[in-house]
Amino acid sequence: MRAALILASLLLGLLAGLPLAAQASTAVSLQLKWRHAFQFAGYYAAVQQGYYREAGLEVDIRLGSPDVNPVTEVTSGRATFGVGTSSLVLSRAANQPVRVLGVVLQHSPQILVARADLPIQSIHDLVGQPIMLEPQSEELLAYLQQENIPRNKLQLQAHSGSINELLSGKVMAMSAYSSYEPFLLTQSGVPFYQYTPRQAGIDFYGDNLFTSDQVVHSQPDMVQAFRQASFRGWEYALAHPDATIDLILKEYAPDLPRAFLEFEAAHITRLVQPDLIEVGYMTPGRWQHIADTYASLGVIDPDFDVQQLLLPDLHDQQLQRVRQALNDTLAGSVLISLLSLVVIAYIYRTNRQLRRAQTQLQRSEHRYRILTEEMRDVIWAIDVQTLRYSYISPSVQRLRGYTAHEVMQAGDLRHSMPPVSVQAVQSILQNAQAQWDAGSLNSDHYFTLELEQHHKQGHLIWTEIVGHLVLNPDNQRLELQGITRDISAHKRQQAHIEYMAQHDVLTGLANRALFAEHFQQARALARRNQYLMALIYIDLDKFKPVNDTYGHDIGDQLLCAVGQRISACIRSSDIVARIGGDEFVVLLNQVRDAACAVLVAEKIHAALRTPFEIAEYSLEISSSQGVALYPEHGNTEAELAKCADLAMYQAKNAGRNQVCLYTPNLSSK
Ligand code: GH3
Ligand code: MG
Repeated sequence: MRAALILASLLLGLLAGLPLAAQASTAVSLQLKWRHAFQFAGYYAAVQQGYYREAGLEVDIRLGSPDVNPVTEVTSGRATFGVGTSSLVLSRAANQPVRVLGVVLQHSPQILVARADLPIQSIHDLVGQPIMLEPQSEELLAYLQQENIPRNKLQLQAHSGSINELLSGKVMAMSAYSSYEPFLLTQSGVPFYQYTPRQAGIDFYGDNLFTSDQVVHSQPDMVQAFRQASFRGWEYALAHPDATIDLILKEYAPDLPRAFLEFEAAHITRLVQPDLIEVGYMTPGRWQHIADTYASLGVIDPDFDVQQLLLPDLHDQQLQRVRQALNDTLAGSVLISLLSLVVIAYIYRTNRQLRRAQTQLQRSEHRYRILTEEMRDVIWAIDVQTLRYSYISPSVQRLRGYTAHEVMQAGDLRHSMPPVSVQAVQSILQNAQAQWDAGSLNSDHYFTLELEQHHKQGHLIWTEIVGHLVLNPDNQRLELQGITRDISAHKRQQAHIEYMAQHDVLTGLANRALFAEHFQQARALARRNQYLMALIYIDLDKFKPVNDTYGHDIGDQLLCAVGQRISACIRSSDIVARIGGDEFVVLLNQVRDAACAVLVAEKIHAALRTPFEIAEYSLEISSSQGVALYPEHGNTEAELAKCADLAMYQAKNAGRNQVCLYTPNLSSK
């Protein structure tokens, strides 16, 4: 009779679709895989927020260390739950009865760090070198193997749990968490390299929660309750990083610097991606990919089925319990058998439908995740009226440093870009809205715009946005939807090309083209204001012998130094250009008279007479200069250049080392 009651209650619970609540307070333990840090924040939060207590659980959180392997602790029954890595696939393949309950870190933080000041220039230099690896680091071994560095070529040592061995040079590299050791190493001031398996295309899950088969089978409800409370704790911790850091400092790791926990919190949040994925979420497909990667490296059997590692479906468990109760107590009862058959058929059908829907959902989620998270471009939608984002893809973090959540929270576009960019968007949208209202614009029209946007680190980045107007079917509001792409590198390249087109490569002075542009502008101003201008042509005397005696390189350095001396003799509004081998031209864009222009030329002449200290030589040089005046000697640059050139040749012919003012009789010679 008692059994019948149990069965009835199970059936009722099952039909109502309710999880079976954990009963009285149960003592369980969670074996961490490392020292206390933000890496385990969710579990601390679940304790502090009372989530475990609400679930009827008394949880003992156990500190990890390099000597404690959570897999051994859990499979031996010394701990109920453990924090694992993707190496659980290997444990299960080796017949260790482990079961993953959910994944916290969607990407693995495991990396190798190596000293950058030792003769380790690439991952391949680690062959034969001492390396420290912590337990559950097979992912790193897989990475090394992928890089053609098999295990037998490595000198592996047990991990000390500290960076001291790396600092003292006892080991050349060590396994690390990208959220942890890089901070300590940066603080120590020792330069280091980070090698991540992602560089070789190995993108595994990171920290996860697991238990043993024995616990899953004997206490399925407790497992569900623990799992839910833990991930609830994680959601809390990620939404309240500051409060959680306070908690860690107060209760778990008072010696850790706050700045370190903040660094870790930011990093861990990026790996959990709570904006995009429910904490704990995992797919059999991705686990199978991990298993397949291990199999391709010959570490496990290619036929290994990851279902053995995953938690059986809750419905399946309940179904099993119904069957068990039926077998034990009511084998002969036709009525109950029929009833159970109906229930089983119902559950079977529901399960099948659910699985199919779930697979489809997983596939589309996977596709969506790859698209929005891994892509370089950012997808977004902006309300045309409020200029607020109604959606932005997580890839915005790669572009601008802010998470999608931060961008959405920040408000309208003014927080994302400087005023000039906002104005550009606003003016396009105002026109577009008017045309849309008038019926002369539809969604087929795409806008392209180049804008600067803010980066979290304080600088601006150049972006290209391509978007079109769409009516949001949910609220009937007009939205601009589109993609943003980083074009900073392209802009830098463009600026460099423009610079190169207008400057002399050797001296960095303006070249003839830029000089001509300046001349046009200065002449327009001079004409309007009735200013006089002067052109000074400068050619160094006997420069060739400098090259011949000291070498071309010294000659180059002398030309640069000459350029600097000339620049130092003129006003910032004047311009100097290098127009030939040892030929320079100066435009004085406002001079009182010819005497003033000659005075400046004499000043330059004297400056160039002072010996130049280049390398170990003291070089003496002189110059011949010709001066022509605008508008007296010519109206155009070409006319003036001709006059200044004639005057300069006059100076050369008269014995060099002098300044000569143009006079009309020079042209007739
Ligand atoms: P002059 O007194 O008549 O001006 O004779 P010069 O020796 O200065 O020779 P000239 O002005 O006729 O020619 C300039 C020389 O400058 C020619 C070439 O050997 C040298 N030269 C041209 N371009 C460069 C350069 O980029 N670097 C160096 N180091 N030398 C250059
Ligand atoms: Mg010369």
